[in-house]
Amino acid sequence: MEIKRNILLNPGPATTTDSVKLAQVVPDICPREKEFAGLIKGLRRELVDIVHGDERYTSVLFCGSGTLNMDVCLNSLLPANKKILVANNGAYSSRAVEICEAYGMPHIDLKQPIELPVDVAAVEKTIAENPDVAVVYATHHETGSGVLNPIREIGAVAHKHGCTFIVDTTSTYAMRPINIIEDNVDFLMASAQKGLQSMTGLSFVVGREDIIRASAAYPVRSYYCNLFMQYDGFEKTGEMRFTPPVQTIYATIQALKEYFAEGESAKWARHTRVFEAIHKGLADLGFRNLIKREYQSGLVVSVCYPDDPNWSVEKVHDYCHERGFTIYPGKVGSARTFRLCALGAIDAPDIAEFFKVLKQALESNGIKVTYNG
Ligand SMILES: *Cc1c(COP(=O)(O)O)cnc(C)c1O
Repeated sequence: MEIKRNILLNPGPATTTDSVKLAQVVPDICPREKEFAGLIKGLRRELVDIVHGDERYTSVLFCGSGTLNMDVCLNSLLPANKKILVANNGAYSSRAVEICEAYGMPHIDLKQPIELPVDVAAVEKTIAENPDVAVVYATHHETGSGVLNPIREIGAVAHKHGCTFIVDTTSTYAMRPINIIEDNVDFLMASAQKGLQSMTGLSFVVGREDIIRASAAYPVRSYYCNLFMQYDGFEKTGEMRFTPPVQTIYATIQALKEYFAEGESAKWARHTRVFEAIHKGLADLGFRNLIKREYQSGLVVSVCYPDDPNWSVEKVHDYCHERGFTIYPGKVGSARTFRLCALGAIDAPDIAEFFKVLKQALESNGIKVTYNG
């Protein structure tokens, strides 16, 4: 079977291999069969292995997109009469604040500049001033801007004050190496379609089993999205509590094989090659990026719109899209940016091809890449 290969430079879902796509094509199976439960068990362990968790850590699967994990962790891990502190320097941590608001959970929105990493001292000061904070929440990589946050340092401060530390690693997991123990993380999360290079519909939380068990005594704020109830379902039956995304699970098992065959450091080196190629291509065309290089995650570049009145991100997008390349709008407050991302089963030669097409897109629309001032 010929499957057209598209190069997705959006921040997920990412480009996948044909072998992952085709792994979904299997005989029909009822997911309540024992053979399927067996697959799930191995999958859950491998998701912990990717972040080097030991036997104290488990993973819990959900059917849904990545935001579901944010919802699950926030609504399930807050004891009664306690507060969540959200270290907020971007669109994804703002989403976490909105989740707290939606559930009416007590929280502190610690607003930080969007173009800088979270200030660890500000987190520590806020926890010290608010002894009812029990959960600290941060985003590893603010995918909207490309800023990387110092999770190990934030985690150390959270633990010093006896708080549970939750990190949204949706856009770093299985790309930037993470060590859940050394990085002082109690819970992290991701979805199958980003770093794992699998399909949409499966997301998962990796975290401390003892804390999940303790959370059985916390208020239940959601029936479908409760971490302990989902975990308990797996413990009792080996299965997902409700219907799992069967095809995505087959794809993800194949994606995990490919992940371990490539290896953590080789895969990160490949994403780094792609990221460097993106920077080089942008610099050659005269584009500027919004975030200081030293603050960038190595996975997303926020590119400032040029000042030429002919500039049209829609026209450039459409030109590239018709030729198999997808660029994506930015998410940095009111800054006029688009994003190029180094996720997915792509390598530096794909980026070289992309920049040929981007150059033609600029020429055919009469766009000059210049900035006033
Ligand atoms: C992609 C992403 C999510 C989840 O987004 P969905 O659209 O729900 O899959 C959450 N957090 C971060 C940091 C992300 O990059």
